[in-house]
Amino acid sequence: MLTILVVDDSKTLRFALSKMIEKMGHKAILASNGEEAMHLFKRERPGLVLLDVMMPDTDGYTVAQQMRRYRIDDWVPIIFLSAKEDDQDLERGIEAGGDDYLVKPVSYVVLSAKIRAMQRIDDMRQRLLQLSQELAQANMELEIQSHQDGLTGLANRRFFDSYLAQEIGRLRRSQGWLSLLLCDVDHFKKYNDGYGHLAGDECLQVIAESMRHACQRPTDIAARYGGEEFAVVLPDTDPDGAIVVARNIMRNVAVRALPHAYSPTSLHVTASLGIASVRVTPDLTNAALILRADEALYQAKSGGRNRYFIYAGLTARRADEDAGDTLKHIEG
Ligand code: GH3
Ligand code: MG
Ligand code: MG
Repeated sequence: MLTILVVDDSKTLRFALSKMIEKMGHKAILASNGEEAMHLFKRERPGLVLLDVMMPDTDGYTVAQQMRRYRIDDWVPIIFLSAKEDDQDLERGIEAGGDDYLVKPVSYVVLSAKIRAMQRIDDMRQRLLQLSQELAQANMELEIQSHQDGLTGLANRRFFDSYLAQEIGRLRRSQGWLSLLLCDVDHFKKYNDGYGHLAGDECLQVIAESMRHACQRPTDIAARYGGEEFAVVLPDTDPDGAIVVARNIMRNVAVRALPHAYSPTSLHVTASLGIASVRVTPDLTNAALILRADEALYQAKSGGRNRYFIYAGLTARRADEDAGDTLKHIEG
């Protein structure tokens, strides 16, 4: 059922049209001049307008223009009603934003046919709108998926690479701090072998959750770096800040206390963390920072696992080459 706004200064015509409209199963709302018409148009949001061309105050063309301006992102069919069949009138009507034209007196059959034609166009338009909304939604989901790791929901390697490069570029100007944290599950091969690959995947989800919760700032990004390796990019974060995040990750993993009967390190699943914390210099690259964090991770593993190790300094070069660097080895 449509709500149809009938605008005509003739009471007889309004009455006749409203009877026809109701007989067709639609609802008629009636206005006798332009002002009333606009008022009802705004309040009732009709699905179709039958609009008289000649009225004492405002003519139908002006009213049609007002309606088009009011619902600029929306389309409402407007059919003009005119006393005479005149090519000039028809042209002006279409120009003013009308969609069709009816000559008075209006016949039931013609009116009914025109309303159905307009409804068909509107249905098509609605379907197109719906489709374009679905398309936009699908594109948005694809965009998100292309950045996400399927198993854990963390950022994927591709996003991690581009985000790290972007932040290095940004922090280069201010020589700001940048910390990179790598996390690797301890004795994960034994976990997989002992509990099965599916349990292994669930374990990775728990680790991912622990990383996600440790990222406090919106600019901190946790990513799945490889199979059972994770990374966190911490822009504007100095060594002390990175250590706080590392401890939070280890605490989150410890709280979940997933049993790991095959681990020589602990009764529960643990992880080792390597951190590289630097002030960004012009020559810093993704690879240099990752290498540094990887070296720290290796130190954490060889130092007994279930701990973190940090390379903190002014540059990402090796500590033994750079007198300004400090080395910290702190057990978790
Ligand atoms: P370490 O304490 O030295 O890190 O020992 P580890 O066994 O964790 O290290 P290693 O690199 O030897 O083994 C990693 C294992 O992780 C190998 C593979 O079976 C498992 N793995 C890698 N990716 C996935 C994955 O997506 N799902 C599951 N379930 N296992 C994975
Ligand atoms: Mg590994
Ligand atoms: Mg491992």
